[in-house]
Amino acid sequence: MINNSKNYSKINNAIYIHIPFCKQACYYCNFHFNVNINMIDDMVNCLVREIEIRKAYLNTEINSIYFGGGTPSILSQSHINSILNTIYKNFKISENIEITFECNPDDLNNSKFEEIKALGINRLSIGIQTFNNKALKYLNRAHNSQKALKTYELARKHNFKNINIDLIYGIPINSIDDWKKDLEIITQLKPEHISSYCLTIEKNTYFGTLYSRGKLKIVGEDMEAKLFDILVENLQKANYEHYEVSNFCIDNKYSKHNTNYWKKGNYLGIGPSAHSYNGISRQWNISNNKKYIDNIKSYIPVYTKEILTGKDHINEYIMTSLRTKWGCDLEFLINSYDYNLLEKSENLINESIENNLMNLNNKTLILTHKGFKLADKICSNLFILD
Ligand code: SF4
Repeated sequence: MINNSKNYSKINNAIYIHIPFCKQACYYCNFHFNVNINMIDDMVNCLVREIEIRKAYLNTEINSIYFGGGTPSILSQSHINSILNTIYKNFKISENIEITFECNPDDLNNSKFEEIKALGINRLSIGIQTFNNKALKYLNRAHNSQKALKTYELARKHNFKNINIDLIYGIPINSIDDWKKDLEIITQLKPEHISSYCLTIEKNTYFGTLYSRGKLKIVGEDMEAKLFDILVENLQKANYEHYEVSNFCIDNKYSKHNTNYWKKGNYLGIGPSAHSYNGISRQWNISNNKKYIDNIKSYIPVYTKEILTGKDHINEYIMTSLRTKWGCDLEFLINSYDYNLLEKSENLINESIENNLMNLNNKTLILTHKGFKLADKICSNLFILD
């Protein structure tokens, strides 16, 4: 029987702030955002109010604050200031707080960097995606490669010492050589952290519509695997540590925020579409800017809540832990949930080990490079089904 009353060992507590505005819609993106930024002042007031309303959600020290979106770099200094001040007033903040700010190159200049530096933001996540101008246009990004490089240089000038760059591979018009060129440029820039995902085609996006009409050809699974191999090989050669399927860093500069998700720490999500988790339940906010603002103003809850079952906890732990270099701790599953994964999935695990997809080290299952390429499939095979 599954015992879900026992607690997780939590490594962190985090706050995520979703800024649901973008200047223009990238053709592949299905995050929640709106290009109508007229409501921005109202929205920031409501984000501040939601932080105050939900201040009891996390009652221990906060280690990470993450501004994501959408496009946080659309915010003015006073917007960011009022959000951060409200967090500082209502939560206990760690001395080593990581404050990440997602930004797009087209929003950044000297004065913007000065503003965010003055506010204590100490980690940037820059959405560059590719250095190929044709591909940037194809994706409908608002910047070009020259602007991206200039932005990175400016960030260093302003003494940002912890920078993530997002890169996309598998862009249909990019060749293998284009991908190698992107990797050559990024390894020369040497950001502390790189997140790299294969382009996926999502419903309700421009690319999704083209795809459903047969007007967009995507790269196949074999090509995707090849591009992933090139990614890992090049970044490892440049001394990056591959610590999660899609994430790499140097000098142990793991993203505290994302590691918190993967290790099942608690987090409070503020803003439209943001998710929260407190070890017992998961909550997700309305994905509609106007409804979010109206509800917050009328003190109507903006979230839907689901109490997680033991099965949910186990499956989520398998899914998130196996995607990281720390792997899936079998003793943790036994101690927390009375669930012996090795016993339940013995054949599957042995087969995966024989096929060089995973290793069993010190009672922990860890995926190999080959296993990382099939992570989703391997994890779902290990899930408890209804
Ligand atoms: S990828 Fe980023 S900038 Fe582009 S539409 Fe999505 S959230 Fe906005």
